[in-house]
Amino acid sequence: MCGIVGYVGSNLAYPILIDGLKKLEYRGYDSAGVALHTGNALEVYKKEGKVAALEDFVYGKNIQATVGIGHTRWATHGVPSDRNAHPHYSNSGNIAMIHNGIIENYAQLKSELQQKGYTFASDTDSEVLLNFIEDIKINNDCSLEEAVRVALKRVVGAYVILLIDKDLPDTIIAARKGSPLVIGIGNNAHYLGSDASPMLAYTKEVVYINDYELAIVRPDELILKNLGNERITPFVQKLDIELAAIEKGGYDHFMLKEIFEQPQTIFDSLRGRLDAEHQHITLSGVDKIKEKLIHANRVIIVACGTSWHAGLLAEYVIEELCRINVEVEYASEFRYRNPIITDKDVIIAVSQSGETADTLVAIENAKKQGATIFGLVNVVGSSIARMSDAGAYTHAGPEIGVASTKAFTAQLALLYLIALKVAYEKQTIDQTLFNKLLGDLAKVPQYVQDILEEQDAAIQEIARKYADANDFLYLGRGFNFPIALEGALKLKEVSYIHAEGYPAAEMKHGPIALVDENLPVVFVATKDSYHEKIVSNIQEIKARKGQVIAVVSQGDNVVAGLADDVMVVPQIHEIIAPILSVVPLQLLSYYIGINRGLDVDKPRNLAKSVTVE
Ligand code: GLU
Repeated sequence: MCGIVGYVGSNLAYPILIDGLKKLEYRGYDSAGVALHTGNALEVYKKEGKVAALEDFVYGKNIQATVGIGHTRWATHGVPSDRNAHPHYSNSGNIAMIHNGIIENYAQLKSELQQKGYTFASDTDSEVLLNFIEDIKINNDCSLEEAVRVALKRVVGAYVILLIDKDLPDTIIAARKGSPLVIGIGNNAHYLGSDASPMLAYTKEVVYINDYELAIVRPDELILKNLGNERITPFVQKLDIELAAIEKGGYDHFMLKEIFEQPQTIFDSLRGRLDAEHQHITLSGVDKIKEKLIHANRVIIVACGTSWHAGLLAEYVIEELCRINVEVEYASEFRYRNPIITDKDVIIAVSQSGETADTLVAIENAKKQGATIFGLVNVVGSSIARMSDAGAYTHAGPEIGVASTKAFTAQLALLYLIALKVAYEKQTIDQTLFNKLLGDLAKVPQYVQDILEEQDAAIQEIARKYADANDFLYLGRGFNFPIALEGALKLKEVSYIHAEGYPAAEMKHGPIALVDENLPVVFVATKDSYHEKIVSNIQEIKARKGQVIAVVSQGDNVVAGLADDVMVVPQIHEIIAPILSVVPLQLLSYYIGINRGLDVDKPRNLAKSVTVE
């Protein structure tokens, strides 16, 4: 969470920082701030709220600086406010710092510093770390770089920090552990960011900084060291994303753009991997750990949020097709639970950003216990990708909308491919079903396109009708059950309406008590082996005057006849159907959020890329 940017060069830093912060705002928007080095002084401007509020605040000021750092915050310690906004000044006023992450032993450090007479202008853990660094610098009479190194050896937690020092007019000091940091190499300039988006307009050459590395960044040099003060050669990589991919491209919101990109992003996730014509799947990541997968005792899928829902569907699919025991774990629980793991377990870590803090630590622990790690992430070069033994990128492109849409369907596409490839290698699937599923998967991009074209107007109507509801229930069975959960999550995220996803049959054991004429119930009811069962569940809701909105297969007149409103999707094999069923639910959430006048791209309290626990 939280976005950080930095610039050292010969151009004016402020516009570059603001532009960068806007690109990173999906990571947090509780407050925004910048610190600039004017050559002989530091200036800090910060404001509660979004980057636009900071811009208004700074408007008209003449900032002449070619070095600066900027921050957009997702509060963990201290309420969103001007005084808790980053950057923070050290007690002397000589150093300014921004921080992404959490300093877990901040309370201990704070009380030590208070005893020495330090005072704090904010409630943040970050300001404690800054003053801890300053204290070391003064006491040891050392450089800022040295003080940072010494301080970080005592720090427990996760961080990316960027610091500027009044006495170092052309330098940013940066360090990371657990939170992401990318440095872009420009023409006599360097750009720093939580991801590469702030620097895309200026350079394609980047260095991904690793944990326990410290960077000394000047316009003409990038020095990388470990915490033992040894030099490391920066590994320069070339980015292959275009600026257009992170801009709205004519859509009102990123979320809508990303929903409509799905025919392409699913296609991109399958491209070069799925060859339906020759019945072949190419996935080098799976080949790399093929034996491990085929002989796995268990596959454990570790994820959070929407990625967890993708994992849940994968459990159904892998068990069905590969006959391997699968468990799906919330990373945050798994990492603290002392799970029993052996070298016969394969962990699949699913994360859009590849930086999800809980997932990262969960796989780190599992790896120590001998498990093989397969990373399924969207962001190339991210921490999870680097820590995995093998993996596959989802190729969904940058996802900016905080509520995940295209990353989810790309995850599903890849998880299908993985399951099918393993099933084929393991010979747990017969050739006819294999061919059928490959063929159906290949049709998905076009079918998603059809849904978007044919259902969009109808879904806008449905959204208008139900936008004032206070609660929603989402029900599904079998392969569609994870989609019911995902549909409910999406609605909560962007409309703030309470919504619950449930297995359709389980609803009788509690949630049915909620049903009355005011409760919209969304059924994910495409044609599958449980179809008659879900038809009965719909009847049960109708008998209690609930309002039924159903995702139905084309030509299903039975459910269409029962439901108050329908969203139609093409008929496809039941294993593949969920990747289609989720699309109308994404649109429904989006339009309900819009009807309620909400900022769907940046829902309150949420942030993308959860790099805190
Ligand atoms: N822990 C810091 C704070 O609450 C930084 C949080 C972040 O990563 O945005 O201000």
